[in-house]
Amino acid sequence: MLDDAGLQALREAARLSPDNLPLRRHLADQLLAKGYLAEAEAEFRAALVLAPKDADVSAGLAEAFVRQSSYGEALAALEPFLGEPGCPPRLGVLAARALLGEGEVAAAAHRYHDAVTQDPSLADPALAARLAAPPQALGGPAPYGPGANGPYGGAPSGPAPYGGAPSGPVYGGGAYDAPSPATPAAETSAEVERSRFTFADVAGMEAVKEALKVKLLLPIQQPELFAAFGKRAGGGVLLYGPPGAGKTHLARAAAGELGASFVNVGLADILDMYIGSSERNLRATFDLARRNRPCVLFFDEVDALAARRSDMRQAHNRQIVNQFLAELDGVDQDANEGVLVLAATNAPWYIDVAFRRPGRFDQLVFVPPPDASARAAILRILCRDKPIAEMDYDAVARVTEHFVGADLKGVVDRAVEAKLQQSISAGRAIPLATPDLLAAAKSVRPTSVREWMATARNYVLHANDSGAWDELMPWIKAKW
Ligand code: ADP
Repeated sequence: MLDDAGLQALREAARLSPDNLPLRRHLADQLLAKGYLAEAEAEFRAALVLAPKDADVSAGLAEAFVRQSSYGEALAALEPFLGEPGCPPRLGVLAARALLGEGEVAAAAHRYHDAVTQDPSLADPALAARLAAPPQALGGPAPYGPGANGPYGGAPSGPAPYGGAPSGPVYGGGAYDAPSPATPAAETSAEVERSRFTFADVAGMEAVKEALKVKLLLPIQQPELFAAFGKRAGGGVLLYGPPGAGKTHLARAAAGELGASFVNVGLADILDMYIGSSERNLRATFDLARRNRPCVLFFDEVDALAARRSDMRQAHNRQIVNQFLAELDGVDQDANEGVLVLAATNAPWYIDVAFRRPGRFDQLVFVPPPDASARAAILRILCRDKPIAEMDYDAVARVTEHFVGADLKGVVDRAVEAKLQQSISAGRAIPLATPDLLAAAKSVRPTSVREWMATARNYVLHANDSGAWDELMPWIKAKW
């Protein structure tokens, strides 16, 4: 190992020759060996930009992550290689350590076992001992027993949307109870739509649309860049915000933007009074999306489905959550390829943290209530296919403070109804004008954004250690 002066010289050399891959790799290895983990991580990332598909560099990056307890990131760095033919077994051991850190004991054991079978010199007795301990989580099966991982066993798995880079979670979800593969297929009442909306039909929300584009489009367009930053393409996006702010509309527009089909799943499609049927409905719904890929699979009111398991008294409900997680993780590597899972909730604080692990709903996106200019833009979109005389959208936006998209739709619908009556009486089409919308606005009671903000403040203000609610913070601190 280099001494500090040697390390400093190496740093200086790398600074002067930033594109020299062997040099950067050497520096990164040395930093890792000396335990400068954050700096090693940065160097491995820089090396990965130069050599995005290099397994050794990714392994180095993953090790830097594991040693900093960033297990999800470690898995993301390893994920493009795991399950690929010729994947160095060393990566399997690293994945096992990361999975263990994530509490996915059964999947970790599976990875470790595979790796050591291929290369016995990688055996790590201390790690093996930790893996052999019975898993605590959710009464999952014992690691090395028959059928140890259930049907979702440690096989590399997860979504790889739109034929892009191999992606999705690497953990098998074996720590969760998984349904029997012999379960008969059930019907789902969810239907496949073709969305006629794109992001051009979503007014305002520029930041939200941008975030979704990064999440949905860039991984397909520039997979190497994503790999270089240890990001994977898969995983779902959880949209949250006050009711009526446009979450469903946005999800539908995302499907249109991608040219994907759209499956909108309401709770009624899933929750079933008969024990066991809900799980089968969930499976059938995911299968419907898989048969129609590329597909945006959208779960509305997901909080009811994904409520914290500790809040659920009945084992049956916990089972639905476990099933949902297992479906998200995917039965095998390609299971969710081309299926993008979006979910919406008005109560994100109720969502089980297991849902927010990497590869699941690892991105929270706040869908805010519209400001005045967004309200004007929404009104313009809502009125665009109607007969219109003059229309001062800004004036209507000014008198509709605290109205969300759904409320504005109510205003336009009401104005249109009144106009229709007048037109029928007059025997000719009378176009809509500003006073019509102003009058309708007076008669519509807006959804309670203010109450929503107050509730959000109660839940979130002192519970943002992880930074999960950063986007929401300025909103709940503002005056409503
Ligand atoms: P949420 O899912 O958040 O409860 P929705 O997506 O159902 O809200 O919104 C209700 C309706 O309001 C939509 O169908 C759409 O017509 C309209 N709307 C909401 N936000 C927007 C927006 N940003 N641009 C255009 N229309 C919108």
